[in-house]
Amino acid sequence: MPSRKFADGEVVMGRWPGSVLYYEVQVTSYDDVAHLYTVKYKDGTELALKESDIRSQSSFKHRKSQSSSSSPSRRSSSRSRSRSRSPGRPAKGRRRSASQSREHKDDKKKIIQETSLALVVLVLFKPSENNTKRYNGEPESTEKNDTSCIILEQKLKPDLEIKRVLEQYSLRSRKDDKKTEEIFSEKKTFVAVKPIEKVPSKTKELEFGGRIGTFILIFLLPATVLYLLLMCKQDDPSLLNFPPLPALESLWEWRVFGVFLLWFFLQAVFYLLPIGKVVEGLPLSSGRKLQYRINGFYAFILTAAAVGALLYFEFELHYLYDHFMQFAVSAAAFSLALSIYLYVRSLKAPEEELAPGGNSGYFIYDFFTGHELNPRIGSFDLKYFCELRPGLIGWVVINLAMLLAEMKIYNLSMPSLSMILVNSFQLLYVVDALWNEEAILTTMDITHDGFGFMLAFGDLVWVPFVYSLQAFYLVGHPTTITWPVAAAITVLNCIGYYIFRSANSQKNNFRRNPADPKLANLKFIPTATGKGLLVTGWWGFVRHPNYLGDIIMALAWSLPCGFNHILPYFYVIYFICLLVHREARDEHHCKQKYGLAWERYCQRVPYRIFPYIY
Ligand code: NDP
Repeated sequence: MPSRKFADGEVVMGRWPGSVLYYEVQVTSYDDVAHLYTVKYKDGTELALKESDIRSQSSFKHRKSQSSSSSPSRRSSSRSRSRSRSPGRPAKGRRRSASQSREHKDDKKKIIQETSLALVVLVLFKPSENNTKRYNGEPESTEKNDTSCIILEQKLKPDLEIKRVLEQYSLRSRKDDKKTEEIFSEKKTFVAVKPIEKVPSKTKELEFGGRIGTFILIFLLPATVLYLLLMCKQDDPSLLNFPPLPALESLWEWRVFGVFLLWFFLQAVFYLLPIGKVVEGLPLSSGRKLQYRINGFYAFILTAAAVGALLYFEFELHYLYDHFMQFAVSAAAFSLALSIYLYVRSLKAPEEELAPGGNSGYFIYDFFTGHELNPRIGSFDLKYFCELRPGLIGWVVINLAMLLAEMKIYNLSMPSLSMILVNSFQLLYVVDALWNEEAILTTMDITHDGFGFMLAFGDLVWVPFVYSLQAFYLVGHPTTITWPVAAAITVLNCIGYYIFRSANSQKNNFRRNPADPKLANLKFIPTATGKGLLVTGWWGFVRHPNYLGDIIMALAWSLPCGFNHILPYFYVIYFICLLVHREARDEHHCKQKYGLAWERYCQRVPYRIFPYIY
């Protein structure tokens, strides 16, 4: 058995898990069995580290005194950069000589020899020591092996980026920071996260009210859609004026179902077209990355052309309005059948392909939340397709049908101002989602939630038929608004959109490329996973600025419907509840993922969605 190198109480330099940084730590104990040191950082965080992640303080001092340029970080900024991997390489780097380049390669080799390329991040151990903080532990629901660990493979990274990372990790202004040379940098970036021992995990913390809650929701969601649509059809849609139930046979028409199927498969054909770039999603728990074709916007253009052709040939698009309820029922039946198919196929899926949140072992719960994370038929990703195509594009087609129905019913040469606003605002939202399709790959729906009844019903029924409620309402309940009111509502929508878009882009760009020069002014808290948490910019304003923008827009969509009834405000009320609940779920996941770093983030950014309110 190898003897331990560092004694209890010794002050050494410990690598911050998931990063390239070393900080001063004190050894508090050693586990002979796991060969792990428990070390205490200056901020009080205790972690268990492998010996290879600990270095003596003298090795740092020695490096520093080698020459005036011997600090790795200083070397970094003054010498060569990898030609192929530095998109934003400054001209200075290009002018270096061949000998400088060779010399620098030797330097790099030396550094690599000194420390292993594989960074071992220990995620949880020492159950006997209660005072050891669980930093970035796996979800509590995961059965753990005390010595389970994650290997982060790394590649050389351009020096400039590393310098920036170092500066940002220490949360100092880049200009002021002269001390990065004290930190031993190894010019690495993470390319894959690969668990060595994959322990099958079961979902133990049930959401949505657990088995009972999800069972109720399976009936409650379709009932709510039915109720809302029936209410909207009434002359007086007051809450207390409960609509009479329609005859069952009036809710179903095979022709309508056929049109729905045609729509769904037309979108599937558009999705399969080999146009648009192919990108990789975030790494799965196995380290693998799935590929996704980004062609949603093209699908939208093709759909617009198809709808245009239908109108040109005088197809009555208000057929959709006339059979709205039957379309909703067809979509609901289809989503139910799809959910059953998804659940059945998930039973054969390998354990590592199951969703972190939908693997409880309870049929109802897993059926509702989605058992399999990324169900695919060949390269056809069912969840990704349903998230943005049939329902979302369907929503704007429905809105257009409502606009045409309004013009036809009231014999108008122009749609009403209210209808124009609702159509334009929601069109902007949908086009934005499709234009930024890639951003969906970092959302909870794709990375955490499985594909089951919740998303199938949400994508195919709830989004197109409930989100178009304002337009549907306006057909039956014409509302006049003045130009100044319309202008004020438009400004509100623009503010919401601006917050929503810039917050989402900021986070998405940061997740995709933390070294993006556009984000150079942002600061972040490092976490043990290697990912940072932004603490300036929008994500330093509130913890979910994108939700704030979304809610402001939701209000702007309802306001054109006036104040006669609460029905058109259903969307904004529901949406606040949804996002408050979603925020709590996300918060819970982030706490599990990032541990103490998340708590620090919450201290720095105390408000969740609404500044100074919530
Ligand atoms: P978000 O896009 O808000 O992503 C949450 C994730 O962002 C977290 O899990 C975490 O993931 C990361 N994160 C959190 N804080 C930070 C930080 N400070 N710095 C960097 N990363 C951070 O999640 P959603 O999927 O809920 O929302 C996406 C968009 O979709 C939003 O705009 C929302 O409004 C909208 N939406 C719309 C709905 C609708 O029906 N219209 C329904 C639901 C959402 P990690 O660290 O793992 O990257």
